[in-house]
Amino acid sequence: MPRLTLGIDLGGTGIKFGLVDPMGRLLRSSKISTPSKSDPLEVVNALVAQAKAVLATLPKRKVRGIGIGAAGDIDPKTGSVRLSPNLNWRNVPLKALISRRLHYPIVIDNDANAAAWAAYVVEAKRRVQNLLCVTVGTGVGGGLVLNGQLYRGSTGSAAEIGHITLYPDGAPCPCGNQGCLERYVGARAMAAEARRAIEAGESTVVSKMVHNDLSKITPLILEKAARQKDRLALHLWSQVGEHLGIGLASLINVINPEWIVIAGGLSRAGNLLLDPVRRTILKRSFHTPASAAKLVISKLDQELGIVGAGLLAH
Ligand SMILES: [Zn+2]
Repeated sequence: MPRLTLGIDLGGTGIKFGLVDPMGRLLRSSKISTPSKSDPLEVVNALVAQAKAVLATLPKRKVRGIGIGAAGDIDPKTGSVRLSPNLNWRNVPLKALISRRLHYPIVIDNDANAAAWAAYVVEAKRRVQNLLCVTVGTGVGGGLVLNGQLYRGSTGSAAEIGHITLYPDGAPCPCGNQGCLERYVGARAMAAEARRAIEAGESTVVSKMVHNDLSKITPLILEKAARQKDRLALHLWSQVGEHLGIGLASLINVINPEWIVIAGGLSRAGNLLLDPVRRTILKRSFHTPASAAKLVISKLDQELGIVGAGLLAH
């Protein structure tokens, strides 16, 4: 059996663990919820306890290391979390806190970077050179592989696709900018837009589907409504796809990727999301790079973060 790594996907609501082989196969996985307090020590305690439980199932020589993908602005050199709005952390020396208690080589990276690396190794099988991975969940994350290497930029902050400006005078974003793509794309943005329309009196099957509790609106509900040809739901998917497409069209002109992998909760809507994305890209970016960029929905999806973190530790 080849040596394995422990991949950990550290998010604001859950922490996922999995043993990953050098090919990116996920051998075993588990999940705990992130302790609700934003106290880093409490989160580290829970993470270490579960990691120990998983690692105890293997002889130590079988384990090559631990990879952690964390939501936020990460310094991959020091393994510290500079800022994580999801975890409500600022300047947390995550690697130092964990290495005291788990004696394995540890790498820490941004979760979207980890996802991009998994998409590159497992889904593209390293057959392309340039790949962009977009995770559209609650918000929007991005990771970039250029010339077969994960591209992190000068400070490890590259590929923050969610914070491209779409509207100069648009909605304020926690990052300090306004009109960021993430304010218009993602589960949070879609649900807010649906609520606004319903409160303004628009008639839709969505109201009935959530029994008039508008806090229950999710992308899955909006997908089901769209499949019933609900006008509001169809409009919302077309709008979200167009907004994502505008961001991607600019990136296509800048990066000229061969693959664009779309992952995260919203990607499960398939063509409801992809059709308007594709339309917008063809309309807005240069013809040659637009037709060369293949849009792919990730098959790994929920596992992309763990697998990528595990692969980075290989
Ligand atoms: Zn922003």
